[in-house]
Amino acid sequence: MSTETLIFEKGGPGRRAATLPTLDVPAPPLDTLIPADLLRAEPAPLPEVSEIEVVRHYTHLSQRNFGVDTGFYPLGSCTMKYNPKLNEDMAALPGFARLHPQEDASLTQGAIRLLYELEGYLAEISGMRRVTLQPAAGAHGEITGLMIIKAHHEHQGEGHRDVVLIPDGAHGTNPASATLAGYTTVELKSDAHGGVDVAHLERVLADHQGRIAALMMTNPNTLGLFDENIVEIARRVHAAGGQLYYDGANANAIMGITRPGDMGFDVVHFNLHKTCSTPHGGGGPGAGPVGVAEHLIPFLPGPLPGREGDDYFWEDAGPLSIGRMRANCGNFLVLVRAYTYIRFNGPDGLRHVSASAVLNANYIMRALRDEYDLPYDRACMHEFVFSANRQKRQGASALDIAKRLLDFGMHPPTIYFPLIVPEALMIEPTETETKETLDEFIAIMRQIAREAREQPELLREAPHITVVGRLDQTLAARKPDLRWQPETAPAATAAVAT
Ligand SMILES: *Cc1c(COP(=O)(O)O)cnc(C)c1O
Repeated sequence: MSTETLIFEKGGPGRRAATLPTLDVPAPPLDTLIPADLLRAEPAPLPEVSEIEVVRHYTHLSQRNFGVDTGFYPLGSCTMKYNPKLNEDMAALPGFARLHPQEDASLTQGAIRLLYELEGYLAEISGMRRVTLQPAAGAHGEITGLMIIKAHHEHQGEGHRDVVLIPDGAHGTNPASATLAGYTTVELKSDAHGGVDVAHLERVLADHQGRIAALMMTNPNTLGLFDENIVEIARRVHAAGGQLYYDGANANAIMGITRPGDMGFDVVHFNLHKTCSTPHGGGGPGAGPVGVAEHLIPFLPGPLPGREGDDYFWEDAGPLSIGRMRANCGNFLVLVRAYTYIRFNGPDGLRHVSASAVLNANYIMRALRDEYDLPYDRACMHEFVFSANRQKRQGASALDIAKRLLDFGMHPPTIYFPLIVPEALMIEPTETETKETLDEFIAIMRQIAREAREQPELLREAPHITVVGRLDQTLAARKPDLRWQPETAPAATAAVAT
């Protein structure tokens, strides 16, 4: 931040960015609106800036950001795909954008119809029976799904089931959500093939007889590998009395090809910002709908969008519902974007999306595997994980490689995740990139591998051309500098502070 002028430091007395119409009613005396002893004696020392200063300031700041609209973003396990502008057009339609969330159903038939149809599409894609659109993110979907599973077990008189099984490659939100839901987590080992070690699963099931509440997993998993034993895994967990929770973060690989419901899963969450091209938007607002199989419908949060003939309405949740997970119907305008994406692509288009995502990942993996170690050497799904072990020995770590990519105008892949791969580089190109972009990335990664061999210090000091260089990440996390302070505090500010 050091060289950047902050908005507080710009401007001059009397400059204005906003123009208000002249007051056409008598101005009431201020102290009839605000008690006299709470009125400021002096105006607050706020920046006075002209419109052009404000516009340039924020445009400049936005140009310092990296986003899907500015460059390639192969962040694994995140599906940073292009946000089609058609989604934005639909979400901006005044009939959607200006809708009050508590407007009567008789006046919001189109909106409820959209949600009703979106629920149907997501149910079809996942192989589930019904879907709640309320959760606001994938992780929020996880806690929703686990609460549904818990309510189901309690209803069956099996409330003592307290163990959730989670593979060792899982995303951190999985154990966090299970713990938040009141469960104990037990880690499942991966086998040499990168899938769940079925022999280990068998031992864990035997060790926790009568206590298994659920298995939480994603397939393809965080290594980008499809677990071919999934039907057998599902059979064993069900036989032990557990439910199967599908973390849908990797659904970009399977749409129209296979369905969690057909693999044996009982609950599925979607990350619409990953699979359905809605904006990630710095962590929100997002949407993480949750689908369930027939036997779990009574526990869904309500209300759900309903339909009778041409009439759309809100269907109240029954007595077994876990209750609301969010106000109103969730992040409605995010749901409009996901609906647009699904309608625009259609069934064949969605299948093509997944097939292209898988093809693109395999294309990069094959083009680079002579330069980077590939711990699990098999065809990948929509992403794959290299290890930078070789480069680490040469003097450049996964972090250094990630930082060096920034010098070429590309966002780094996910690094050091999943934890089971040392020096992990988790690469997910998505379906939206052109062959030229993939080839450019491949050429840059080959150049970086060469640099690691010949001049690793170049990588260790990267990035060289970004606005800020290598940050002290620990200091940034522990002591974030979030508040602007004037260098010499003006009198009025000092008075407020004391
Ligand atoms: C992204 C991700 C999550 C969490 O989803 P959010 O929508 O970010 O809350 C969970 N599991 C996996 C595998 C993920 O990649």
